[in-house]
Amino acid sequence: MLRAGSFTVNEELAASWARGKRLRKLLVEAPDGIKHVAVELARRLSEAGFDVIVSGRHAWGGCDVGVREALSLGAEGVIHLGHHGHVGPRVTEIPVLFLPVLSEADPMPAFRRAVLEALSSGYRRIAIGVTVQHMHFLGDLEREARELGADPVTGSLDGFRGLVVGCMYSSLSGGEASVVVAGGVFHGLGAALWTGKPVWVADPFTGEAKRVDVKTAVARRLEAISRAIDARSFAVVVSSKPGQMRLRVAELVVEALRKRGREAWLVSLDEVTNEALVNLGAAEAYVNTACPRLAVDDPELFPGPVVNPGELKYVLLGKLDGYSPRDVFFFDARDLA
Ligand code: SF4
Repeated sequence: MLRAGSFTVNEELAASWARGKRLRKLLVEAPDGIKHVAVELARRLSEAGFDVIVSGRHAWGGCDVGVREALSLGAEGVIHLGHHGHVGPRVTEIPVLFLPVLSEADPMPAFRRAVLEALSSGYRRIAIGVTVQHMHFLGDLEREARELGADPVTGSLDGFRGLVVGCMYSSLSGGEASVVVAGGVFHGLGAALWTGKPVWVADPFTGEAKRVDVKTAVARRLEAISRAIDARSFAVVVSSKPGQMRLRVAELVVEALRKRGREAWLVSLDEVTNEALVNLGAAEAYVNTACPRLAVDDPELFPGPVVNPGELKYVLLGKLDGYSPRDVFFFDARDLA
């Protein structure tokens, strides 16, 4: 195992995977918080005889694998650090190894506090969620929850027990409440919006435990939808990232808007930036078919109000009745008929 700061990564697995597939030239990529691990792994793989390039791209998630980048550089395979696997369509043009980067930060003090708070709030059946960096602690977390008097439930995502990613929280389906072990509030907020139930975040890096408050996020969504109801023109953003591209959804959105007399056009982007959208000209509102979290966490990337496809039905109806925060994530084409 290779240690880089407080993280470890299985460098032997990376090397044996590449040897097994007879790959000589590799692209190594990682999300921003753990880029130093990619640099260290690349150094070790170079010493082992591989020809390695480290990507400086964001590599936001399993949706964002640098296939085109690898192919243009002549790399024969991609080692993607820090995510569990593909999100969205699988990449098949080139071999990809998803390699977990495991944190050594002890999640237990924060987790214990979070579980005790959930118990004292009257929730006993507690779903446990972990990001990939902390998934090796799951067994210990379940044991600890039981000892504290909780009835832990752990679902799965893509075969990984307890795993949560920013746009998928099926692991938490069975709980009355959830405790998510993750750095920051990003995954906790997503879990609370997705499940509609109380969520506590236990942050192993700060040792803090706190209940997630969705009020501000939901208020911002409702405000954006209300403003979009009055818009006459819409730019519909479709991502060119392999796992975020939902072209058919974007086309349905354009059709639905045009049918109701609104002006709508498709805009393709790799990274969604305010500058790129401003350069493309004025739209009164935006529909985001790329990463659903952009509308929640980074709405300022859009020069006007932004809604996700699942929220568009309220724009078309002209009212907010029945709004659910789950509309951030879920889309049903029948709602646009
Ligand atoms: S939350 Fe966004 S960046 Fe993360 S996996 Fe989902 S689509 Fe990708």
